[in-house]
Amino acid sequence: MTDSRPVVTRFAPSPTGYLHIGGARTALFNWLYARGRNGRFLLRIEDTDRARSTPEATAAILKGLEWLGLDWDGEPVSQFEGRARHAEVARAMLANGTAYKCFSTAEEIEAFRDAAKAEGRSTLFLSPWRDADPATHPDAPFVIRLRAPRDGQTVVRDAVQGDVTFGNDQLDDMILLRSDGTPTYMHAVVVDDHDMGVTHVIRGDDHLTNAARQIQIYQAMGWDVPVFAHIPLIHGEDGKKLSKRHGAVGLHEFAAMGYPAAAMRNYLARLGWSHGDDELFDDDQARAWFDLPGIGKAPARLDFKKLEHVSGWHIARMEDDALMAEIAAYLAETGAPALTETQKARLAPALPALKAKAKTLPALLEQGHFALVSRPLAVEDKAAAALDTVSRSILAELTAALQHASWDRDDLEAAAKQIGLSHGLGLGKIAAPLRAALAGRSSTPSVFDMMLALGREETLARLQDQAG
Ligand code: GLU
Repeated sequence: MTDSRPVVTRFAPSPTGYLHIGGARTALFNWLYARGRNGRFLLRIEDTDRARSTPEATAAILKGLEWLGLDWDGEPVSQFEGRARHAEVARAMLANGTAYKCFSTAEEIEAFRDAAKAEGRSTLFLSPWRDADPATHPDAPFVIRLRAPRDGQTVVRDAVQGDVTFGNDQLDDMILLRSDGTPTYMHAVVVDDHDMGVTHVIRGDDHLTNAARQIQIYQAMGWDVPVFAHIPLIHGEDGKKLSKRHGAVGLHEFAAMGYPAAAMRNYLARLGWSHGDDELFDDDQARAWFDLPGIGKAPARLDFKKLEHVSGWHIARMEDDALMAEIAAYLAETGAPALTETQKARLAPALPALKAKAKTLPALLEQGHFALVSRPLAVEDKAAAALDTVSRSILAELTAALQHASWDRDDLEAAAKQIGLSHGLGLGKIAAPLRAALAGRSSTPSVFDMMLALGREETLARLQDQAG
């Protein structure tokens, strides 16, 4: 349907666990859709199932959204808190005749189903109370059921799936309010979406059948039906529905693997949605480009190679401050200690060289190890092997030569070359002892990148420590 109201989308997780990668993508799609249209993006915690909902799960979901950088408007809405309103709407439906009181007991419903099965009829319950005269109503517990249309069809005009038609004979008179006065999930969702002014419902296609039932409630209340967009679920690399078997499925697991949030936003946006051949983009582009026609009908596959590629692209182009913040979030996620001020001060000048090569944050920190360690450096065995007598004397000579060198790459390189040559050694040969002295390791970034990042004082001190 077309709709001129300002766009309002929502993410409506059930707080029964952590934020799944599929949920994160649903949230992202809703966020992008709203943010690209000056709309509002709301958050509703579907906590009506008291037995399964926990505050810890709510906290984990909020934390996941925050990590991913998806900000929502207003306070999160608790579905449970709205139960009085849900009951009020069910009673309004009683009053307008689109719902009725059903006094059938669980035993009666079971007996109905058994008989239907035995006679080969549909087992969808047909309540005898649908058309009963209220004068005959007993003084007994009742549920409120929707008086669903018996004939015709209910069509979900889905922005992704197209028109999906359900025969009304397949949809029973669903319960809106239980006999204890609590709303059913289906009813609560519709009332909440209406009250929150939701114009677009973007969610997993496991809710497609629910949409047909929900449309019947909208129609019974004479409310505008939102635009529905049911997105195919995410599959693993083997093409099967994503599950724990595939490894990481929680957003926090991706955070712990060191993919920056900016990269996850880009990658998840492409998981089931496309804009031409664009694979790599920033938030501004994503907000400007994201639309419903670009959502595919086929399930998207999680592809770690692509994710690495996207991640590397984002790390390389990230502002240093933003990258530092991503690193801090990564360390916190893995439970590692935060960087000290000294480490931050040493790492910052190294970032330009490091970020050009790293695909993930741990890869960046691995290469940036030299900036994180303090003197006296522990030298790994493999690196120590490069520190023979000749090498140590080269380090001593270099220490002296660099006292007054201007601290730029050309001069550093020239000085190192010259001293190497005086010993008949090329740069390649003297790089190993330099790596050992500057990083305590044999695999490091370029020695000149390290020197430039460490600065004169620290570089000379490290060389001196190993000089003979
Ligand atoms: N609470 C539902 C879920 O977590 C989402 C319902 C909806 O988006 O309408 O799957």
